[in-house]
Amino acid sequence: MYQTTIQRPVETQGIGLHTGVQTRVRFVPAPPDTGIVFRRVDLDQFPIEAHGQNVARVSYATSLMKQGVLLSTTEHLLAATYSFGIDNIYFDLDNIEIPILDGSAEPFMQLLDQAGIRRLRRKRRFLRVLKPVEVVEDGRRIGIYPADEFRVRCFVDFPHPLVGPQEVEMVVNPATFRNILSRARTFCFESDIEPLRAMGLIRGGSLDNAIVLTKDGVMNGPLRYPDEFGRHKALDLIGDLALVGLPLLGRVEARKAGHSLHTQLVSKLLADPSAWEITSLEPVLRSHNQAGRHPAAVTAAD
Ligand SMILES: [Zn+2]
Repeated sequence: MYQTTIQRPVETQGIGLHTGVQTRVRFVPAPPDTGIVFRRVDLDQFPIEAHGQNVARVSYATSLMKQGVLLSTTEHLLAATYSFGIDNIYFDLDNIEIPILDGSAEPFMQLLDQAGIRRLRRKRRFLRVLKPVEVVEDGRRIGIYPADEFRVRCFVDFPHPLVGPQEVEMVVNPATFRNILSRARTFCFESDIEPLRAMGLIRGGSLDNAIVLTKDGVMNGPLRYPDEFGRHKALDLIGDLALVGLPLLGRVEARKAGHSLHTQLVSKLLADPSAWEITSLEPVLRSHNQAGRHPAAVTAAD
């Protein structure tokens, strides 16, 4: 019901997956209605809001840019923060890319655990989806639909004996994110490594921060989950959806999507104010009122 921030600052540092630069990131408590804001402390605290209006490049990772100031690979940190239920926070960074750490969201979840949650005296606001918004492109698709909770369904199908069709469907909350998605790591195909390096990407990539798929297996197993790839794509999806800027009340379905489609959906949704409303009404109470059901029955449904 109330907005949150963290109790105390925490920090970590590490290498960026694509640029290979070392970056220190410090999590700092923020006042109500701040949202999630990155600040480049190497550029006079220049702020870049985690919002669809600041999306820049989206090939292989999501980057934000504002007035020419770039910030790369935001998705895993945003997935953890958004799912954790943190409404307001500053991420102070001294370089251009969020550290990749182990390639999953787990290290960020541990930092948020250390930081603790503080409830603020301001009602939480949600972005509630009122009508469907979809993006379709070459057999890939993503859509968002009205719902009383934040739910995702993510389907991937890579032509590899260990991947194939994988699907994750879940209501997103701190517990489900932690249990189902947080430990799933970034992955890439061995055959893509040289082309990506030639494009100036994955300069910080290593067997410590990404699963590498060989022609018919995994170079650096074991996997953390048999369907770690599908789970990681759902993690990426949530991290990109955080760019709507408020907690979502809506159901998202993604089919062979990726950062480009995810962020196109965010932009298309935000560009159509008739497709959503901002509400501070608590969702369970609202569906209870509408359906005339006992609150316990609504809670028990999930
Ligand atoms: Zn990822």
